[in-house]
Amino acid sequence: MKLPILVYHKIDRIPPGSRYPKNYVTPEQFEAQLAFLARRGYASITFADYLAYRRGERLLPPRAIIITFDDGYRSNRTIALPLLRQYGFGATIFLVTAQLGKTNAWDRDELQEPLLDAADIRSMQAEGRGGGGGIDFGSHTATHARLTRLGSVDALRELRSSREQLGALLGKPVTVVCYPYGDYNRATLQLARDAGYEAGVIIRRRMNSDATDPLELRRIPITCLTSPGRFAWDLFRLRWFHGS
Ligand SMILES: [Zn+2]
Repeated sequence: MKLPILVYHKIDRIPPGSRYPKNYVTPEQFEAQLAFLARRGYASITFADYLAYRRGERLLPPRAIIITFDDGYRSNRTIALPLLRQYGFGATIFLVTAQLGKTNAWDRDELQEPLLDAADIRSMQAEGRGGGGGIDFGSHTATHARLTRLGSVDALRELRSSREQLGALLGKPVTVVCYPYGDYNRATLQLARDAGYEAGVIIRRRMNSDATDPLELRRIPITCLTSPGRFAWDLFRLRWFHGS
């Protein structure tokens, strides 16, 4: 089974002066992408569904997909969520736990935008139960740290404290981590395992096969430069032409 996982950051208009416009996808682009996925019969699943499948405990729909958002911008709730609901898709949002309700302070040279706060997160979790539009959350570490540049004690603290804080907020164990900047190495994977994560996500333009390490799940980046043709072509060619 081939599983595509998409990664977005912000669904919003690109504000003038943005240093990283590729972190934006416009609402129109996002809606067209969701409409395409719906037309092609894609069904969003959760990481819990996928991990259960990998353990042999359940089957997945033939066109399963996971939609993810990094950093936890408030616009995920105000702009992306209504569109997800409209098309019956759920998503997973990776949160920077020390920054909840603050801004993307780790991007010192980028415009600062509001991040989801604890109340947003709790209500999104409560609203989405059962069916399309459900939102799950994972860890994007405590401070959006570049994990490979930290010593193992500090890296483990980033991974563990964010998992604990988020677990307490959500009232359930957090199983998935997103390595900031997609930056990781062998040691990072071991630390993620030690911190209690069952899955980790990276950025790589590939799908996931039954042999992919669950701590190294590949995600296809979608940006404001992703044309409708490119979006459709990636989902086709990565399924059929890239075996591993
Ligand atoms: Zn990030």
